[in-house]
Parts: sequence; structure tokens; C-alpha cells
Amino acid sequence: SLTPSLFPELIQALIATIDAHAEEVTELDQAIGDGDHVFNLQRGLQALREHAGEIAQLDWVAAWQKIGMTVMAAVGGASGSLYATLFIALAKQGKDKAIDLSGFSEAFLQAVEAVKQRGKADVGEKTLLDVLVPVALALRDEAAAGKPLTEILERLCAVAAEGVEATREMLATKGRASFLGERSKGHIDAGAKTAQLMIAAIAEMLQ
Ligand code: ADP
Ligand code: MG
Ligand code: MG
Repeated sequence: SLTPSLFPELIQALIATIDAHAEEVTELDQAIGDGDHVFNLQRGLQALREHAGEIAQLDWVAAWQKIGMTVMAAVGGASGSLYATLFIALAKQGKDKAIDLSGFSEAFLQAVEAVKQRGKADVGEKTLLDVLVPVALALRDEAAAGKPLTEILERLCAVAAEGVEATREMLATKGRASFLGERSKGHIDAGAKTAQLMIAAIAEMLQ
């Protein structure tokens, strides 16, 4: 099963995908946000890279906690506190053994619930939750059905891509984009896009 030992490689993959799509995502956040989303994520990912060697030595609970605290300290924007909440909530599940996929899928769903509460938001509000929620639900269902890992990862990538696209015509009701009201429509949400990019990079690495 998977252990935090692959964390350094994983962080490199996330940095690479965010760098590769930096311009595209910044344009999205400039259209309906304040344009700093890529910078915020890069700050967080670079802080995680600095601690990656240490995190690789930890068990999952300590690793999630350290990841959450690192992101919280490094990132100022809304996305920083939401991702920090996700990881700290994962740590709080206390599943410290090298967890299997179905154990992780249940913990991840709970952690996404914590993000909803933190942001006082849900699906349909044009945020990163429009990717994280359907992905968490699909992961739980596919893992419970005992599907093979490659099939699960493929499904998650498809669900994430649908989630991103769905944000385009949504009215933003949370975050900075909500200040634009109706004018928020017609643009993909930057935070949903980077969530999808990171999920795709993780899936590629685990394949
Ligand atoms: P900021 O908006 O503070 O500049 P970022 O640009 O890093 O922070 O992140 C913006 C992203 O955060 C948005 O694109 C959206 O996906 C997500 N977001 C903002 N507010 C919320 C919220 N209340 N709940 C969930 N996600 C949110
Ligand atoms: Mg922003
Ligand atoms: Mg900002």
C-alpha cells in the first residue's frame, strides 16, 4: 500500500503541473478573482517541497498534519486555508496505518466535508468544491465497489474534468468571484481548475 515515502515525488509532480498551466489559471483568476491563485498555490507547494524529506519519513496522520500546518503557514489566500483544512481533517481521522484505498476514500470524503464547513460552501457555488466533492464521492463509490486502481483513477480524472467544466456557467456565490454576481458566469473557476490539475497529476503518478 501507499506510504508518505512518495511525497517528494508527488510534490514535484504538483509543482510541474501548476507551473505548466500557470498562465491559463492566472487568466481565470484575473477574470473573476484577484489573479493571485497560482502564486498562492506555488507558495504552498514550495513550502511543502522544503519539508518533503521530513514528511516522507512520517506515518499518514503525522504527514497530513504537517502538510496542513505547512500550507496554513505558507499561504494567505482562501485556497490556502481550505487546503490546510482538508489535510488537517485527514489527520483528525486518525487512520495511521498504511491505509488502503477504501479507508482513505472514507477519510477523504470526511475531509472534504470539513472544507465545505470551513468555506460555508457546497457544490454548485463555482469553487474548488465543484471538483473535490464529486471526486470524493466517486472515489468512495469506486473503492467500495472494489474496482481496480487504474480504472478508479481514470474515473476520478473524468469526474474532475466534468466538475471544472460545470463551473463555467455557474453563478459564483462564495469567494471573490461572488462580488461580480451575474458577471461571474462564463468563466471557469480557477480553484476548481487547479484542483483538477492536481488530481490528474496524482492519478498519473499512481498509475
Ligand atoms: P483568494 O480568493 O483569497 O485570492 P485564491 O485565489 O488562492 O484565494 O483562491 C481562490 C479560489 O478559492 C477560488 O477560485 C475558489 O475555488 C476557492 N474558494 C474561494 N472561496 C471559497 C469558499 N468559501 N469555499 C470553497 N472554495 C472557495
Ligand atoms: Mg485569488
Ligand atoms: Mg487573494
